[in-house]
Amino acid sequence: MVVVGGGPVGSTLGLLVPGALVLEAGRFPRDKPCGEGLLPAGVEVLRRAGIELQEAGYPAIAGIQYRAPGAPWARAALSGTPGRGVRRLRFDRLLAATAGVRPGCRVLGLRQLPSGVEVQTSEGAVGAEAVVVAAGIGSPLVRQLGWASPRGDAQRFGLVGHLEAVGGDGDIVVSLLPSFETYLAPVGEREVLVAVLGSRAALRSAAGDREERYRRLLAAAHPELAGAPLSGPVWGAGPFPRPVTQVASGRVFLAGDASGFLDPLTGDGITAGLQQVEFLAQALAEDLTSAAARYRRWHRAQWRRRRMVGYLARQLSGRPSLTRRALRGLAERPAALERLINVSQGSSGWGALGAADWAALLNWGRR
Ligand SMILES: Cc1cc2nc3c(=O)[nH]c(=O)nc-3n(C[C@H](O)[C@H](O)[C@H](O)COP(=O)(O)OP(=O)(O)OC[C@H]3O[C@@H](n4cnc5c(N)ncnc54)[C@H](O)[C@@H]3O)c2cc1C
Repeated sequence: MVVVGGGPVGSTLGLLVPGALVLEAGRFPRDKPCGEGLLPAGVEVLRRAGIELQEAGYPAIAGIQYRAPGAPWARAALSGTPGRGVRRLRFDRLLAATAGVRPGCRVLGLRQLPSGVEVQTSEGAVGAEAVVVAAGIGSPLVRQLGWASPRGDAQRFGLVGHLEAVGGDGDIVVSLLPSFETYLAPVGEREVLVAVLGSRAALRSAAGDREERYRRLLAAAHPELAGAPLSGPVWGAGPFPRPVTQVASGRVFLAGDASGFLDPLTGDGITAGLQQVEFLAQALAEDLTSAAARYRRWHRAQWRRRRMVGYLARQLSGRPSLTRRALRGLAERPAALERLINVSQGSSGWGALGAADWAALLNWGRR
């Protein structure tokens, strides 16, 4: 099998499928704009693939806090295995090195043949029984396959930076401001990541160059970080969402962001991709001829669940009175938020949320 892309998703597939050839265009260490919060379900997939993040020194994430001006903080504890702050510079290198990824080799095109797939690379052509494209958001290969969706209207963007500071008290902190959101994750002993997310207009509402705008928006949510030095560049990210029309056909499969990207606000991107490749590794080992149909069905259900959670999260932002109401309800009933996060990371289904949880989430009848 050939895997295109040695990011976290492609590398993990390389760990799960003995003999897989993982081709990566870049060289490590390399950075990637991300929120760097890995949910417990993702930590568990990596454990099953042989990677122990705790031993590798990645900070634990104990919970997720939601904050908004004029509302109490709502906090969900992450039950069982903690999440991890995964500084991508180190994390991606660790996974790629463990999986034996081949760096500096770009895949240029794919051709499905009756007996396999011809993979054209910057180093010549390679034959493969099956190919998994895990080449990240907006991959040109997905466009070449004709599987990219046209972009929608509601485009969102991000600004991502790292600060030399301690923050979040071991939690991910999501701050819901009237026109944008911030997402903070502790990623080192004295390093936090903060992503600012919103429409292009919202991210341009502050004056100055990219770094100045980032600092102004960040300070609105986290005044305590206003003076903290940046420990790297400020990255732009987006647009999102980036859906696709197809995730598998014949012997070609998409995984990770290449199989569709929703929104960073839910912080489930890496986890979802790791779950996809765990399913795919199993399906391919069982029967290559039925794997595409099985994966399409499984992926569709995962996508629907993630889209619904993303929709709920997005509904909370940008409507200050609704946000305050919901946070009040969730602060009083943290179990509802914990169950919603379990749905978000795929460790339970919607049935886990009872009527009282929905009432807390929406805080019906309160003003
Ligand atoms: C602002 C922001 C915040 C986010 N926050 C979080 C978060 O907190 N938690 C979370 O879990 N997720 C988060 N995500 C999502 C997360 O970053 C992605 O889901 C994750 O990186 C997907 O991994 P991947 O391996 O699919 O793709 P990538 O990490 O993009 O890796 C793809 C790899 O493929 C390589 N490649 C591309 N084309 C080729 C080619 N033709 N040939 C060979 N190699 C190629 C690239 O060089 C790259 O190394 C966030 C995303 C954004 C933008």
